[in-house]
Amino acid sequence: EEVRLCDLIQSVADRMRPLFKEKQVTYTVNCADNSVLAFVDPKRFQQVLLNILDNAKKHSYEGGEVVLKVTHTAEEIYLTVSDEGEGIPKEDLPHIFERLYRVEKSRSRESGGSGLGLAIAKEIVESHGGRIVIDSKRGRGTCVRITLMRGDHIE
Ligand code: ATP
Ligand code: MG
Repeated sequence: EEVRLCDLIQSVADRMRPLFKEKQVTYTVNCADNSVLAFVDPKRFQQVLLNILDNAKKHSYEGGEVVLKVTHTAEEIYLTVSDEGEGIPKEDLPHIFERLYRVEKSRSRESGGSGLGLAIAKEIVESHGGRIVIDSKRGRGTCVRITLMRGDHIE
């Protein structure tokens, strides 16, 4: 299904905003071009964004900022979610898309969760022919990058 990506992101933003506010994390959405169409299942892709934003919020510090940005070329869409939170230790990074994998039991107990969010996100993104990667530095923050094919690109 061809979806206006900015509209979809906006509806997710409306759901997340009170949760970010509660934690005093600034949430900025940078999605300028609403003409961009993504070929995604809207319900499932909303789930991807909710899982990623839930993580960004959970691991942010009070007063931090989470930025969701969308850019594109003629063929592809690039969506990034970056936070300034606690980050992911280098040794855990290769495993975070595994089902039930969670970083440090102590830290995870405190923040709840079951270790499924990213596994589900990856499965959904890849089922749409997209890619998802994560860069992170412990103590600095995390950036999730998703690449999708444009739904309005004509070969
Ligand atoms: P669930 O999403 O099922 O509620 P979860 O958040 O622990 O549980 P995932 O979303 O799959 O599971 O994330 C896996 C692990 O990766 C988390 O336990 C967390 O430690 C780490 N992680 C994910 N996103 C971030 C982030 N933005 N900043 C720091 N650590 C993160
Ligand atoms: Mg999660």
